[in-house]
Amino acid sequence: MNIVVLVKQVPDSGAERQLTADGTIDRENATRVINEMDEYAIEEGLRLADTTGGEVTLVTMGPDEATESIRKALSMGAHKALHVLDPALHGSCALATSRVLAQALQTINPDIIICGAESTDGRVGALPAMLAERLNITALTGARKLTVEDGSATIERQLDDGYQVVQGSLPAIVSVWDTINEPRYPSFRGIMQAKSKPVTTLSLADLNVDPSTVGSAGASTEVVQHAPRPPRQAGVKIVDEGDAGDKLVEFLLAEKLV
Ligand SMILES: Cc1cc2nc3c(=O)[nH]c(=O)nc-3n(C[C@H](O)[C@H](O)[C@H](O)COP(=O)(O)OP(=O)(O)OC[C@H]3O[C@@H](n4cnc5c(N)ncnc54)[C@H](O)[C@@H]3O)c2cc1C
Repeated sequence: MNIVVLVKQVPDSGAERQLTADGTIDRENATRVINEMDEYAIEEGLRLADTTGGEVTLVTMGPDEATESIRKALSMGAHKALHVLDPALHGSCALATSRVLAQALQTINPDIIICGAESTDGRVGALPAMLAERLNITALTGARKLTVEDGSATIERQLDDGYQVVQGSLPAIVSVWDTINEPRYPSFRGIMQAKSKPVTTLSLADLNVDPSTVGSAGASTEVVQHAPRPPRQAGVKIVDEGDAGDKLVEFLLAEKLV
């Protein structure tokens, strides 16, 4: 089976993140990691390859630095990678990103594409549906469980109050939540092997994409305003003068916590 996993490099959400003057995320100075949900997608792709005997190809669109994340994902066990790299891509909106990724995916012709349900930076959560539309394939989104057999994929689609069982024919794109599995850590052997695994780099010209339709110039949306999160307010301190219990209950009632 030809399995593709989409991997996006993002600024670590556990570290300080900044916006640049033009309202885009400062990726250069950020601590860069694989988008958390994509680690689960990689694990699911590897498990599927183990059971069906296929190969896992990683696909990423991002700057030079995204190579770090590709190598990490390869060290987890993926077989090869395709990196869409072009200076004109900086500032691409979700529509442009999906256009470029769809072109890249067409060069691979996957049976199944697995990706995260959302990224921790853009958090658009729309790429899987956009790609399904562009590629005219099945979209199975928000999976907490995936089964593939007899040319179709079945997911348990995670909801706030339960789950739905949804089935569709391959080729399909499946987006996953962090409830689907427990991603493996790269082994020392995996890290060594990753250094020699093939990574193909494609530019916009290779993909026949007009540079004016991507990047800041071709963006369908723009950040028109942004403001830092307000600093945290100091908490309420209750000093026990024999009435701390009453004060605590008063506070909880006032905050409608009880
Ligand atoms: C005006 C504007 C400027 C922007 N400038 C930039 C910029 O310069 N650089 C930048 O990186 N982003 C930029 N973004 C954000 C970028 O458009 C989104 O990150 C992108 O469209 C995907 O949205 P998402 O990450 O929220 O996807 P989601 O739909 O939340 O992601 C779902 C899954 O799709 C996959 N995926 C998403 N993006 C990629 C990718 N690039 N490669 C491989 N897989 C992917 C991942 O598996 C991810 O888990 C900009 C957005 C706007 C509105």
